[in-house]
Amino acid sequence: MRREYMEKIVLTEFGECLLEYSSTQTSDQDRLGSCVGMHEECGSVDFKSISATHNAIYCRHCGLRVAIPKEIDTYGKLRQYLADKLLALTK
Ligand SMILES: [Zn+2]
Repeated sequence: MRREYMEKIVLTEFGECLLEYSSTQTSDQDRLGSCVGMHEECGSVDFKSISATHNAIYCRHCGLRVAIPKEIDTYGKLRQYLADKLLALTK
C-alpha cells in the first residue's frame, strides 16, 4: 500500500518547504515535537522555545530560522499561520 505523505508546509517567500521525515507519518493534528521534519533538499529541522511568546523552527544545516507564536503547536496550525503570513507579504 502506498503511504500518504503529509502535504508540504511552505516556510518562506522563497518557496522553501518543510517535509515530514520519511521514517514517520505525520498528520496536521500532530503536535510539533523537538524535531519537526526536513528542510526540503537540505537538512533536519528542529523546534525550540526562543522567548516567552515565541518558538522557532530552524534548520540544522543551513541556518533557516522561522519564529512562530507559542500558540502554534500543531502541523495544521503551522501550515495555516505560515500561509497567512506569506499571503500578507505579497499584498
Ligand atoms: Zn536548511
